[in-house]
Amino acid sequence: LARVQYKTGIVVIGAGQAGLSAAYYLKKSGLTQGRDFVILDQSPQPGGAWQHRWSSLTLSTVNRIHDLPGLSFADTLDGNAPEVRANIAVPHYFEAYEKKFGLIVYRPVGVKVVCERNGRLRVETDGGYFSAQGIINATGTWETPYIPEYPGQGHFKGLQLHTKDYQSAKAFSGRHVVIVGAGISAIQLLDEISQVTTTTWVTRRPPEFREGSFDEGAGRAAVAIVEDRVRKGLPPRSVVSVTGLPVTPAIESMRARGVLNRLPMFSEITAQGVRWSDGREQLADVILWCTGFRSSLDHLAPLMLREENGGIIMAGRLATMVAKQPRVHLVGYGPSASTIGANRAGRAAATELMTYLGMGS
Ligand code: FAD
Repeated sequence: LARVQYKTGIVVIGAGQAGLSAAYYLKKSGLTQGRDFVILDQSPQPGGAWQHRWSSLTLSTVNRIHDLPGLSFADTLDGNAPEVRANIAVPHYFEAYEKKFGLIVYRPVGVKVVCERNGRLRVETDGGYFSAQGIINATGTWETPYIPEYPGQGHFKGLQLHTKDYQSAKAFSGRHVVIVGAGISAIQLLDEISQVTTTTWVTRRPPEFREGSFDEGAGRAAVAIVEDRVRKGLPPRSVVSVTGLPVTPAIESMRARGVLNRLPMFSEITAQGVRWSDGREQLADVILWCTGFRSSLDHLAPLMLREENGGIIMAGRLATMVAKQPRVHLVGYGPSASTIGANRAGRAAATELMTYLGMGS
């Protein structure tokens, strides 16, 4: 993209599951790429955030990756599916998807800022800017790791990392690792790291394990809770924080190995480790923060979408529309922060935004 202004109808920002789903429905409704909509993504290749995830995340260790509309994931897999790395298989799938449906993604193009200009939305990128009537924002969470603050954090002489930085357990052998967090990623990394070195696991609240397989009803109920929050303008919670942790064979084996001994959160970080309020200390070489992500929305700051509490009041059929800025849809946000949710949200956002802007057939 040259440093010039392009005029278009809708800019889809991000080409992960949510952005591709939205783009699929825009195109299916008869919109023309370029004139009516464009898709931008800052990552170097297809795959959304999956291309950046650690290599031991395989199709047997992810929860489940839902098909994008119109193409089966399984049909794009070759080899022994369960053992295939997610950071290879999903990019391969998305690439095939873009090709099959002729979705042209401009990449790497990072959106820096979106603001209002003369009644339209100006989307400023690192390679020129767009003047658009509306946007579908699908930028996910991967670029916004969250690490809570604790006293003494700056004095720690060891290594502090976030889930986003994790590559493989091998790097930690011979070092004591404190793993913080109660989500699926925390458990998976604890499992891997505890097989090569000593670990301490701390969580703010006791983790909620859920026995038995995960049924669709429980999933829907969890999504409904998060949807209700965002409709009220509360900051979304992750869907998993509402569903609890399914007891997998990996968790059973961690129990048997005695590594699921959760301690409450420490109160302070020292130069050599962590300290609890009762004076107990644990020496550590590494603190691994598996404390989640926030939605990557900083580029939308000039639109002032947030309420005082940091949340955004969402509306529309699946709560993808920003109530006070109906030209802006957020997909993969709140209740749609899963591959299945992103699919549905992409469809709802595309349909509602086209209707609002008077576009499409
Ligand atoms: P992403 O896949 O993050 O895509 C966002 C895209 O936007 C990226 O390609 C990025 O390059 C681009 N982007 C970001 N900012 C900008 C910008 N400013 N300008 C331009 N482009 C930008 N969900 C499941 O359903 N099943 C699972 O098994 C599962 N496992 C998970 C495992 C981990 C470790 C994590 C962290 C999440 C997991 N999830 C899972 C959640 C799931 O990844 C997401 O809900 C879904 O894949 C996200 O899709 P997305 O399109 O919203 O975002």
